[in-house]
Amino acid sequence: MSMEVVRAACHFCHGNCGVLVYVEDGRIVRVEGDRENPFSKGYICERAEHAVRWLYHPQQLKHPLKRVGERGENKWKQVTWKEALDEIAEKLKELKEKYGPECLAFCEGTYRSDQVWARARFASLFGNPQNVVDPGTICFCCDRAVDKAICGYPLNFTAELDKSNCVVLWGTRPTVEREYDHSWRLFEERLIKDKPKPKLIVIDPRFTEEARYADFWLKIRPGTDAALALAWINVIIEEELYDKDFVEKWCYGFDELQKHIKKYTPSWASKLTWIPEEDIVESA
Ligand code: SF4
Repeated sequence: MSMEVVRAACHFCHGNCGVLVYVEDGRIVRVEGDRENPFSKGYICERAEHAVRWLYHPQQLKHPLKRVGERGENKWKQVTWKEALDEIAEKLKELKEKYGPECLAFCEGTYRSDQVWARARFASLFGNPQNVVDPGTICFCCDRAVDKAICGYPLNFTAELDKSNCVVLWGTRPTVEREYDHSWRLFEERLIKDKPKPKLIVIDPRFTEEARYADFWLKIRPGTDAALALAWINVIIEEELYDKDFVEKWCYGFDELQKHIKKYTPSWASKLTWIPEEDIVESA
């Protein structure tokens, strides 16, 4: 019996956590987190933990199956790839002739745009490259839209939390929502080890796991986030805490913003958000 340990990366999602794969006589027997991986540092989620069961599961789909019973009856027969492809092609041709190419929609996991070349090529040839849907609209499109509006580019995979000296977690919980995002893990390590530690501001009505480390946990009244943002801008401008060179060089409309923001004082925001006025000022 020979056991080999192979260093690899998990590809179940884009986190690519480092893993150690234990192979016994040519068969994988265990997958565990690689503590020496500089990003994931031993972390893996349930998907990688169950990778072996998934790989060797007797119901792993290895060939085309055709339903022979009613929907939900779970009755199938094995067919060849040729039979499957011919039948699908025939049906698609029929649908396209009858209803046009727009009758077909493609639903996929995390939308990868046309990097999923096989789907992109097929959809183009079918005459309908547009009808592609995915769960990204609730998963990440919203924060990408905000990133683009503010910075012109989606930052969610490039923000270097681990190198930041002050991080604001606003409506996000990296420990549960972005388990694949290793930059939070590295930042968390700094929160524990660094002296002085980087600053963390958590804006959340609930006391979250992340809030344990927070310099400010702002218990905001749900639905009043914009008031807090306006009051922060007010303090930052009034107390001249902003980077003047940056504003001079890169910002348009700063004078108008300066006038506009005057009325959104911390005391005004405090009444709406239920956050004490002094916490708004100090956290800004
Ligand atoms: S978060 Fe889980 S699925 Fe994603 S790469 Fe890491 S172990 Fe794999």
